[in-house]
Amino acid sequence: MYLDKFRLDGKHAVVTGAARGIGQATAEALAEAGAEVVLTDLDPGALAAAVDALNTKGFAAHGVPFDVTDPAAPQRIHDDIAARIGAIDILVNNAGIAISNEPAETMSDEVWNKVLDVNLNGLFRCCRAFGRSMLERGSGAIVNVGSMAGFIATRPQEQANYNASKAAVHHLTRSLAVEWASRGVRVNAVAPTYIDTDLVRKVSMDPNLRQYWVGGTPMGRLGRVDEIASVILFLASDAASLMTGSIVVADGGYLCW
Ligand code: NAD
Repeated sequence: MYLDKFRLDGKHAVVTGAARGIGQATAEALAEAGAEVVLTDLDPGALAAAVDALNTKGFAAHGVPFDVTDPAAPQRIHDDIAARIGAIDILVNNAGIAISNEPAETMSDEVWNKVLDVNLNGLFRCCRAFGRSMLERGSGAIVNVGSMAGFIATRPQEQANYNASKAAVHHLTRSLAVEWASRGVRVNAVAPTYIDTDLVRKVSMDPNLRQYWVGGTPMGRLGRVDEIASVILFLASDAASLMTGSIVVADGGYLCW
C-alpha cells in the first residue's frame, strides 16, 4: 500500500536538463519507478548518450533536444511530446546554470540575464506550457529544482545572479502551487546543497574552496545526484499527494549552521 504510492507505472514524465548530473539521475529514478520518460537538454550529443544508457537498462526513454531559453520552445515541445507519447503527468524543471565568482558591482547585464533566463524565465515558460494541459486534465505534478542558495548567500563564491534566481524559483513554486492546488496540479521544489556535478566542478575544483563547502556542512561532504533524484521521485509521486508549495531542503544540514 505505501510503497505502491511511489510507483509511476503508466505515467509520462519530462525532465529538462537531463543529459547529465541531477537531471540524468532523476530521469533514471522516474523510469525505475515505472514512468515513460522524456529527457530534454540543450546538448544533443550528451542527451543521446543519456537516453541510450536508459534504453540499454530496459527503460522506456526518449530524447528531445531543446533550449529552455527559446521563448516558443516549451509550448512547441509540450505539443510535440503529447502528440507522440500522450499526456504529460510529471514535469521536472531541472535545467539550470551558474556563472559564479562574479562580484555584483562588476557583473554585466549579460551575465545577470543569462542566468535568470535559464533558471527562472525558462522554468516559468515550461511550468506555463505543461501546467496548462495538466490543469485541463485536472491532474499533474511539477517539481522545480531550486537550491539552498535560494535561502542563503553562497560563500565564498559571489553569484548574486544564481542566488536570486533560485530564491525566485522557490517563490514561483509557492505562487503556482496556490493558483493550481484546487485544480489537481501540485507544484513543489527541491533545494539541494552542493552536489558533485559538472555545475560545481565549473565553479571550482580548488580543494581549499571545496573545503569551505564541506566544512560548512554538518554531514561533512557534498551530495550525490541520486540523493536529489530520490527526493524528486517522492515529490512527483502520490506519496507526496498532500504536498504542494513545499521547498524540500536536501542539504546535509548546511542550513542549520
Ligand atoms: P549540470 O551542469 O551537471 O547539468 C545541467 C544540464 O542542464 C546540462 O546537461 C545542460 O546542458 C542543461 N542545460 C543548461 N542550460 C540549458 C538550457 N538553456 N536548456 C536546456 N538544458 C540546459 O548541473 P546539475 O548540477 O545537475 O544541476 C541541475 C540543477 O540543479 C540546476 O538547476 C542547478 O541549479 C541545480 N542545483 C545544482 C546544485 C549543485 O551543486 N550541483 C546545487 C543546487 C541546485
